[in-house]
Amino acid sequence: MFNALVVEKDDETGKTSAGVSQISLEDLPDGEVTVAVEYSTVNYKDGLCIGPGGGLVRRYPHVPGIDFAGTVEASDDDRYKPGDKVVLTGWRVGEAHWGGYAQKARVKADWLVPLPEGLDTKQAMAVGTAGFTAMLAVMALEDHGLEPGHGPVLVTGAAGGVGSVATAILGNLGYEVAGVTGRPETADYLKSLGATQIVAREDINETVKRPLESEMWSGCVDAVGGAMLARVLGQMKYGASVAAVGLAGGAALPATVVPFLLRGVNLLGIDSVMQPYDNRLRAWSRIASDLPMDKLEAMIQPATLSDLPELGSDILAGKVKGRVVVDVNA
Ligand code: NDP
Repeated sequence: MFNALVVEKDDETGKTSAGVSQISLEDLPDGEVTVAVEYSTVNYKDGLCIGPGGGLVRRYPHVPGIDFAGTVEASDDDRYKPGDKVVLTGWRVGEAHWGGYAQKARVKADWLVPLPEGLDTKQAMAVGTAGFTAMLAVMALEDHGLEPGHGPVLVTGAAGGVGSVATAILGNLGYEVAGVTGRPETADYLKSLGATQIVAREDINETVKRPLESEMWSGCVDAVGGAMLARVLGQMKYGASVAAVGLAGGAALPATVVPFLLRGVNLLGIDSVMQPYDNRLRAWSRIASDLPMDKLEAMIQPATLSDLPELGSDILAGKVKGRVVVDVNA
C-alpha cells in the first residue's frame, strides 16, 4: 500500500472532496511503465482537478497531478528499464488518467521522457508543466523572429508558474522583460528573476478602447488571456508575436483584427499536452541550458500530499507565487 491524494465525488450532492488515502498497485490504471514518483507540482489545471474537476475529470475516485518525476520501477517497454529517471507532463494524465499525486503511477511509455541531463527530479518538477510550457512559448517566439535588442518582451501573469519561468528564461537570454502582475508585492521577486520593468495589472487589463496603441513590446508570453490579451495585441511592435499560453484572466478574446492586418502581429497558440516527443526533448534540453538553476530554486515553495487541497484552491485564486514542488514521500 502507498499514499495518494484521492478525490471522491458524492453522487447525491455532486460535491467533491480530496484527502490522502492508501491505495495499492492493483488500483492503478493500465500502462506499460510503473514509476516510483518522487516529486509532482501544482499547476492551474491541478487546482481544477483537486477541486470540482472543471469538466476535466471523467471518473471518480480520481488521483490528480498533471505531471511528475521519478524512477522507473517496472516496465513492459524496451525504452525504459527499472532505475531510469523519467518525467511526465501532459497527455491528460491527472485529468482523464490517474496522475502524479501518489507514491506510484502507471502510465504509457509514449507519455514519458527521460529526465533531462543536468536536472534532478526535484528541479524537473520545479519546472513542471508550467515551466515546460513557458519554454515552448519562448521557442515559438524565437521561431517567429524574436531576438534580444528590439525592446521589452511582455510576460503576463508574471508571478505565477508560467510567468515566473518565462521571466527567468528570457532574462537569462538577454531580453528586457516587462512583467505584468496584480500583486505589487512580488516586484522584488520578479526583478530577482530577471524582470527589468513591472507593469501593474490594472494598467493593462481594460477592454480595448483603440485597436492600436503605441508599439511597446517585441514579444509576449501571455498566461492570462481575456481582456488583457486583447489589449496587448494592440500594443505589439510591427511584426511581433504573442504566445498565447493560458486563460487565468478569462477565455474570451474581446479583440479586433486590426493589429494582425495593419501591424502584421502574430498570435501563436501554445499547447503543452499533445506536444510531439522530439519537441518535448528539445524544450527540456533548452530548459537545462537556458533556465538558471539558482533562479529556479528561488521560485520553489515546498509541499506534501496533505497540503494539496489548500494549494489547489490557492492556485485557482491566483495566490500561488512561483512553483510549488510536492514531495510525495514526505
Ligand atoms: P498560476 O496560477 O501559477 O499563474 C497565473 C497567474 O496569472 C497568477 O499568478 C496571476 O499572476 C495571474 N492572474 C490570475 N488571475 C488573473 C486575472 N483574473 N486577471 C489577470 N491576471 C490574473 O498558473 P500557471 O502559471 O500554472 O498557469 C497559467 C495559465 O496557463 C493557466 O490558465 C493555465 O491553465 C495555462 N497553462 C496552459 C498550458 C498549455 O499547454 N497551453 C500549460 C500550463 C498552463 P500575477 O499575480 O502576477 O498577476
